[in-house]
Amino acid sequence: MFLFDILFPKRCLFCGEVLAKGEKNICLNCYKYFPYKANAEDEYRYKITEVAFEHLDIFLDYAHCKTPIHKFKYGGYISMGRLLGELWAEHLKEKEWIESVDCIVPIPLHRNKLYERGFNQSEVLGRVLSKKLGIPIVTNLIERKVNNPPQITAENRWENVRDVFVLKKKVDLKDKHIMVIDDVITTSATTNYFVKTLRGIKGLKISFAYLSSNY
Ligand SMILES: [Zn+2]
Repeated sequence: MFLFDILFPKRCLFCGEVLAKGEKNICLNCYKYFPYKANAEDEYRYKITEVAFEHLDIFLDYAHCKTPIHKFKYGGYISMGRLLGELWAEHLKEKEWIESVDCIVPIPLHRNKLYERGFNQSEVLGRVLSKKLGIPIVTNLIERKVNNPPQITAENRWENVRDVFVLKKKVDLKDKHIMVIDDVITTSATTNYFVKTLRGIKGLKISFAYLSSNY
């Protein structure tokens, strides 16, 4: 066992450096970047324009967690995703508004993408959050019709682009507070298309939580 540890020392899941004694999974240097301290949240407040919303939280800077996210999403390391979900849950637990959330809604993948990848990364993360935070998760509520939504320009405007997502089930969301989640937010186009389907539901409150942002 000792020799094994010398030959294959445990490494930080984020940066790959050899872990020091007492460090578990992630080195102290990487923990310095938890949570994301840039002004990304303020930036995205202006970019999510399709609904009025309550809270927006971004846990990590994508630049600091792209290695584990890649391993999880493209390498199929589900256990890595679960670990990220656990770290994320610890972070969200501290938010005073989390107690008012009625359900967690992961952004769905298009069925071709789901078939190709075998899992929806947001749903894997959402299931960990659900368990750790004690909040139910709702899937199959909204279906993704378009794999790669077009970017929004002055010419094509939101309203003129065909629906990327459609509301499938008539789950009663009236007067509920939902937390929409995704692994990464970049342009906010996906989020805007997604929440468009929820417009007009009476009393519905929406918050957003992202594992990371590529702002
Ligand atoms: Zn590290």
